[in-house]
Amino acid sequence: SAKRHGRNVSQRFRPALDVQNSPHMTLVYGLRDALANGDQLELHYQTQHRISDGAVVGMEALLRWRHPEYGMVSPGDFIPLAERHGLMGPLGNWVVDETLAQMARWRELGMPALPVWINISAIQMFQGELETALSAGLARHGIAPAQLGLELTESVLLDERAGDIVPRLEALRARGHRIAIDDFGMGYSSLSYLKNLPLDKLKLDRAFIRSLPDDPADAAIVSAVLAMARGLGLDVVAEGVETQGQLDFLQQAGCRLVQGFLYARPGPAAAIEAQWQVQVAGQQPELVLRPEP
Ligand code: C2E
Ligand code: MG
Ligand code: MG
Ligand code: MG
Repeated sequence: SAKRHGRNVSQRFRPALDVQNSPHMTLVYGLRDALANGDQLELHYQTQHRISDGAVVGMEALLRWRHPEYGMVSPGDFIPLAERHGLMGPLGNWVVDETLAQMARWRELGMPALPVWINISAIQMFQGELETALSAGLARHGIAPAQLGLELTESVLLDERAGDIVPRLEALRARGHRIAIDDFGMGYSSLSYLKNLPLDKLKLDRAFIRSLPDDPADAAIVSAVLAMARGLGLDVVAEGVETQGQLDFLQQAGCRLVQGFLYARPGPAAAIEAQWQVQVAGQQPELVLRPEP
């Protein structure tokens, strides 16, 4: 019938065209393919440094997607899409396994075992797959849990869909994982949760670092967070450190650890290896990177 024909037309063309013309859905389908094939996804690593001597104390794994047409798509753009379209579970599992596989490759090369930190999405917490993915990956690649740190944002820690997070974090820590709050200071107004959560580290959001040392309000906030963290027995990593002025302020305020372009941009695993090889050649196998001039 004409009616049936009309509906078929609209089903076949209008919605399909809308979907295909939307870069949003194109990205979602592309991401699904990337997950199935694996070759467009990769992890970059950014080193974290002790200010006193520049030594690398760990690394953060950051997800990258090389889209065949759009080039490098930022995680800030595709992670929210993955979360909305049911792809964050598989994507998070891929990050867990690939990070551990890379740590095993570095071990084969004889590199010193540095802790690597991965970012955990709220979806991974409330779907409850995280623990399974971690156990499977750690066993498959022979990595100790103490070497794999977990970064969670305040919004993840306080997301009710994640259920009662305290026992889960306690269980993860009992296995040996370390837990950091990412983007600290951006998510929540009450600090009372800090005394109830089992945590190792705060990552001070770069929004507070950007205007140091000149902005008196940011300087006050950063100093207060550092004092508070000391009282609570938590490490602090300042994120997004780009200038010597920021570094000097942080060091003077008692901050020990930093991550930012001043020391190193995120780069592929090969860049970390190359850096280490240079230092082995210079009889300094410890991975010590000085701030870039
Ligand atoms: P994040 O976890 O806070 O990661 C730090 C971000 O700051 C990274 O952006 C890094 O490249 C950038 N950054 C580091 N140092 C500097 C600096 O000195 N200056 C500036 N301007 N930026 C700096 P990236 O890689 O684009 O990642 C953005 C966000 O995407 C991450 O923020 C994290 O929330 C999320 N993300 C990345 N990888 C993953 C992942 O595997 N899983 C999940 N769930 N989220 C991820
Ligand atoms: Mg992070
Ligand atoms: Mg962060
Ligand atoms: Mg951030």
